[in-house]
Amino acid sequence: VNRPRLLIIANRLPVTLSRSADSGTWTAKASSGGLVSGVSGINSQSAKSDQGSVKYDMVWIGWPGLAVEDDADKRAIDTLLSTPAASSSSSSSSSGINTMAAVYLDEDTSAKYYAGYSNSVLWPLLHYDASSALQLSSTHPEWWTAYVKANEAFAEAVMREYRDGDIVWVHDYHLLLLPSMLREKFRQDARMKREMMIGFFLHTAWPSSEIFRMLPHRRELLNGVVAADLVSFHTYDYARHFVSAAQRIIGVPLVHQDSQEVHSRDQSLVPCGSGMVLLEPHRTSPTTIGIHPIGIDTWKWVSEVKTEPVQQRIAQLASFLGLRSSGGGRNRMMILGVDRLDPIKGIPHRLAAFESLLTKHKHMRDSVILVQIAVPSRSDVEEYQILERKVAETVGRINGHFGSLGSALPQLANQPATTTASGYPGPVLYLHQSVDPVTLQALYALADVCLITSLRDGQNLVALEYIACQPQPAATPTTKPLTKSACLAAPDCQPETAPLKQPVPGVLVISEFAGSALSLAGAIRINPWDMQSVVGALECALSMSDSDRWARQSTLFEYISRHTAARWGQAFVADLFRAYERSRLAS
Ligand code: UDP
Repeated sequence: VNRPRLLIIANRLPVTLSRSADSGTWTAKASSGGLVSGVSGINSQSAKSDQGSVKYDMVWIGWPGLAVEDDADKRAIDTLLSTPAASSSSSSSSSGINTMAAVYLDEDTSAKYYAGYSNSVLWPLLHYDASSALQLSSTHPEWWTAYVKANEAFAEAVMREYRDGDIVWVHDYHLLLLPSMLREKFRQDARMKREMMIGFFLHTAWPSSEIFRMLPHRRELLNGVVAADLVSFHTYDYARHFVSAAQRIIGVPLVHQDSQEVHSRDQSLVPCGSGMVLLEPHRTSPTTIGIHPIGIDTWKWVSEVKTEPVQQRIAQLASFLGLRSSGGGRNRMMILGVDRLDPIKGIPHRLAAFESLLTKHKHMRDSVILVQIAVPSRSDVEEYQILERKVAETVGRINGHFGSLGSALPQLANQPATTTASGYPGPVLYLHQSVDPVTLQALYALADVCLITSLRDGQNLVALEYIACQPQPAATPTTKPLTKSACLAAPDCQPETAPLKQPVPGVLVISEFAGSALSLAGAIRINPWDMQSVVGALECALSMSDSDRWARQSTLFEYISRHTAARWGQAFVADLFRAYERSRLAS
């Protein structure tokens, strides 16, 4: 029996392709990420949807991430990706992705479409950095041309793959034009009986219509997206901003609003749903607006952190970073930041707050450490290069000013001869590199505070991963007493008076401008622009009582255990069916 097919259309394929220099053979290595987890969950056993226990054959269509000019190479890649056995050995059969298809873009087009229009115009604008976006879009009109061309190439690739009755799910800001291009091509194709079912999910923020309406190609982009049956976002606010942009800029009326679903701003009450419906002008059939905040593969994180390699790394890092004394007591507390090095993540704001904390509480130079992982990102874009220099300078200044040999000496004796840590010993351990998954999980597990200061952030998965790696509420804390590190309590915070127990959960401090903050009621929410409030939140988090920590972690863990990546994927597909029915009834 043929299973229904779900076509996942995203900028990048979930694999990295490479060609052996000797044999010329192409191989594909799986990459992971939020989208792969969400998509893999759609077929999972726990799938509960209106479609019952339907399982899909999934086909992923995307750019391979490199320019392939040679026809023989293209044929070899096409064969590799379209063979279920080959793609499952590389992209993991557990992902549920059956086959893949590559969209080939020449080097010039991919540079202008990807680094140019997508990452230098759309990305900053969608995150409220309009001035740089608008300036670049006017000085580089060729970027827009390449964006249109690349979306066309995707549309052609989808139509080559598409069979009557397939479900098409388009992802993210790289492909805003694709839904309308697909509708157009579909209409010209006489073979098809059933109207194409198209869903679109935006993984970034969507800004106020006051920001979006400054963009020169605002109409084309909006008309491109509203051609989908379902257009969905992480948060109610992004959806609301999108609806007002569509109403104001392309005059699309709002025909229906489901008050129950969309009037609640607290997503922990209504994390998924499709409440607003727009009337798309050319199709005269409605576009449903959805809210589906993405999650993580929670149970995978929870089980991996308990494995032997991660537990060993936890012990190594605790000793290397001087977090625990030889007697098991706590020497230092650790604040953790994990981000791509991107202007939206507010890393300079985080460093400034940490510097201010140390200035205010001088003794913390030895009792608190900030570990900042900054994964290199878009280093071909000038703004990112400027940010990299600024962060490195600030870290150097803080470590130069507050560093001391005092409490670091015992740890230095045990540390490996070489380390990539820059600026250690000092209160900031800055790594401008990605870290392996075992180290990342160990850092999440060890951190007393995870500090997220995004100025804007579509969702932010780091927050969810941190919660998953911290002790779970069901776990019984051991009674081994730890010496409380010297840290001052914020005036409104109940400080711990008894010795610390271990393990106790850490505290999540998250910017209110990160999408996931809306769902994470147990976190301390901060405005990253208000440095004093960030300092106050750190004081509160570092001195929080065990009972407060457990209470917060229970709320947070409850949320991430329910709102997983799998649930996100299933809810989106279920709502896409409903939106499609609504569209068909209306047309
Ligand atoms: N991450 C990673 N390697 C690292 C540090 C982080 O793969 O060295 C991952 C992390 O696990 C998370 C993702 O990068 O899944 C960051 O996702 P998030 O939504 O927080 O931000 P984005 O980078 O998508 O803007």
